[in-house]
Amino acid sequence: MVRSALRNLLPGRATAETPHKAPRAADGEVLLDASGLTKSYAGADGELPVLTGIDLQVRAGEIVALLGRSGSGKSTLLRCLAGLIPPSSGTVAYRGTPLTGANPGTAMVFQTFALLPWLTVQQNVELGLEARGISAEDRAEAALQAIDLIGLDGFESAYPKELSGGMRQRVGFARALVVEPDVLMMDEPFSALDVLTAENLRGELMELWESGQFPTRAVVLVTHNIEEAVLMADRIVVLGSRPGTIRETFEVPLPHPRDRDSADFDDLIDRVYRTMTGRPKGTRIPGRAEPAGPEKRTPANTPLPAASVDGLSGLAEMVDHRGGRCDLADLAEELGLEIDDILSLVDALDLLGLAKVSEDDLVLTERGTTFADADVQQSKQIFAEAALEAPLVRLIATSLRQNPDRHLRAGFFRDLLAHHYTSEQVDQQLETATDWGRYAELYSYDADPQEYRLDESGTAK
Ligand code: ADP
Ligand code: MG
Repeated sequence: MVRSALRNLLPGRATAETPHKAPRAADGEVLLDASGLTKSYAGADGELPVLTGIDLQVRAGEIVALLGRSGSGKSTLLRCLAGLIPPSSGTVAYRGTPLTGANPGTAMVFQTFALLPWLTVQQNVELGLEARGISAEDRAEAALQAIDLIGLDGFESAYPKELSGGMRQRVGFARALVVEPDVLMMDEPFSALDVLTAENLRGELMELWESGQFPTRAVVLVTHNIEEAVLMADRIVVLGSRPGTIRETFEVPLPHPRDRDSADFDDLIDRVYRTMTGRPKGTRIPGRAEPAGPEKRTPANTPLPAASVDGLSGLAEMVDHRGGRCDLADLAEELGLEIDDILSLVDALDLLGLAKVSEDDLVLTERGTTFADADVQQSKQIFAEAALEAPLVRLIATSLRQNPDRHLRAGFFRDLLAHHYTSEQVDQQLETATDWGRYAELYSYDADPQEYRLDESGTAK
């Protein structure tokens, strides 16, 4: 569909008078410039840093991917670049001018399409122009061209509920492109779509970008999907977590369309994988405890990964069936798992001493092999021993043992954690600790009074 739209596309389509029209930036010109950027959110005792020390430039002619695991601050960084939220310190400049509010050179595409259900496709697309005081006639013309460009012709008067996910996201793209932003910002734009739809839309966008008729000069793509980053980006900026820093930047010199089967493609995927699984050496939260070896781990410096017992046991078994060792990227692809999911499981196996990452491989330890081979009762025992190495699980178990009543309100742990985590993160920490502790029979949890209890069987351990 876009192919036909491409043929119809008139070059130099800027008929609508967009007010911010700056001269077209030459390739390589710096459009966005973040310098010394930090961002903190309020925590229980002061500010919790989410991003620190970010220096990043986006130049005309390039697609930059911000790649990182869930919670690494990608969306926060994107919003700072778009001027939707102010940094806590440092600056963001657009074409040399520091931002004081919304960035006039950017438009955003969100993961969830954020369409107004009572407006037609065309009206939704025109929304972006309405705020800019453009006449109805020019709005309609610009909207129809954007609709055509993105392969939505024929759907102008449809309502969002009549559209498939892919078509809805096309509306999201059209609405952003209609204002002809210098920089198109995309926050996981394909992750709510099914695999085939996402693949198709990515391909069409790249075709448009490569055709040179894309009405934007640069793209910033937020993603947690390594393959997507390697497929689309000229530069991949990998963010590490807690707090988000730029861990590494990869240039991607491969020509488009990129060949997933080529050795270069594979090699880059592996290198990026390695960066994302590597322990963040030397990163530390200023003023907080350093990342520590097993003996120094605390619930504050060693967050529990978002991994269920079922998930991590399943992964251990898969690796066991493959001889106790297998390539992470291959395994993720084979299982159709998202990088976020698999890396959380990998972190969990590592924390529990059940597996180690070595080069690009996940390798079961002796304990991991025993765990994978054991029957349910044995595996619970091994898991209990391992789970006590997870600081939060140990804290809950020992606190319960020291309490004469043998039960404690979850709020007690919630308050302790709130000094180190945002409330969303606290929820996830407790959810994982509950799942692990219950399976290990170290303690039980009553959702109604929100209480942890020491099991009779637990006291024996
Ligand atoms: P990503 O997009 O990489 O998943 P985010 O930028 O959404 O990461 O979030 C980074 C961290 O900041 C997360 O721990 C999240 O819980 C926290 N966070 C994001 N937005 C807010 C907010 N408005 N208030 C408090 N914490 C937030
Ligand atoms: Mg995000």
